[in-house]
Amino acid sequence: MIYVSGNESVQRVFCSSIKDYLNSENSVMVLDKIEDFTEVMKTEEDMSRVAVLLPTADDVEMLDKIGTIENIYSISDIEDFLGHMELFAGKPVLPYIEMHLSDHCNLNCKGCGHLSNIAPEKFADYDQFAKDIHKLKELFSHIKKIRLMGGEPFLNPSLAEFAELVRSENRDTDIRIVTNGLYFGSNSEYTLKRLADLNIQLDISSYPPTVKRKEQIAAILNRFGVIYHFSENINKFLKFRNPDFNKDIHVSYEHCHMKMCTFLRDGEMAACSFPVIYSQLDTFMRGRFAVDSDIIHIHNPDINGWEVTWKLTHPLNSCRYCRTDRPEFYVWEPRQKSGALCADWFVGE
Ligand code: SF4
Ligand code: SF4
Repeated sequence: MIYVSGNESVQRVFCSSIKDYLNSENSVMVLDKIEDFTEVMKTEEDMSRVAVLLPTADDVEMLDKIGTIENIYSISDIEDFLGHMELFAGKPVLPYIEMHLSDHCNLNCKGCGHLSNIAPEKFADYDQFAKDIHKLKELFSHIKKIRLMGGEPFLNPSLAEFAELVRSENRDTDIRIVTNGLYFGSNSEYTLKRLADLNIQLDISSYPPTVKRKEQIAAILNRFGVIYHFSENINKFLKFRNPDFNKDIHVSYEHCHMKMCTFLRDGEMAACSFPVIYSQLDTFMRGRFAVDSDIIHIHNPDINGWEVTWKLTHPLNSCRYCRTDRPEFYVWEPRQKSGALCADWFVGE
């Protein structure tokens, strides 16, 4: 049994990730309040099966009144605790991850968050991708949701093979393809049938050109039995990169809606796509940001799933480049590489 209290990020790690794994496989409960703890802990045997994480002195004091428990860890012992937790609870759950099947795109939106409108044409390398998928299995006990995206993933002629690989390694995972819905590939009949068979759904981003073709897109997908979800209409984009590189990382992180959008490409992972994409893709943005320290090299033999989880749930040095508390909105429009400017991503430029 794990008692988790206080600190929001710790709760997020333990309550959203570990809880499912522990409940389903080890019959272990997570309690939300220390009062619940006293209700459930009736016997010494109960106590011996408990690990407790105590963020505050008040909690320590309260627990003292309850009795002695062996596995008590304070928040300052967190790294040590996570090491013990691996023995105690197995591997962590990864709630969410995004991976590219294609860096480039057929739509080329101004200020694309994944730089796809200025990225060179490049598909994911199958062997590297397979290596990454296998490594995720080593690091995590389960992945709740995987979104395969880009760029436009349907541009990748081997999309079905990538989808088969991901499904074969993640049988109970919610797997989605994120697409603008404007192109289903030269082999669309085979690809869409396979996605339906594999129970992989489509998340369709409703940009203006997509909205215009919504009925045709739905008809195609219905014909092949593919489950799909259109997003709200997207008429505006936002930009929030900070040209002064001086934001308080905690403020940026706090206001950021992308901080749980874990991203992995070519063995490099981060809490959001920014550090990986801006350092890997050969665009005019490359080298402008010092983001390397936020990249987690998942094939490093010394790293484990708990360390990865810890890094994924805390502010990044890269957050200083983001003004997420004051983003600027602009009307959606296409913009090819040749016309793109830093001002498409940077506020106040
Ligand atoms: S549709 Fe637009 S926002 Fe989406 S990946 Fe392509 S260029 Fe980027
Ligand atoms: S670097 Fe930080 S603030 Fe910027 S997008 Fe990533 S998590 Fe959000």
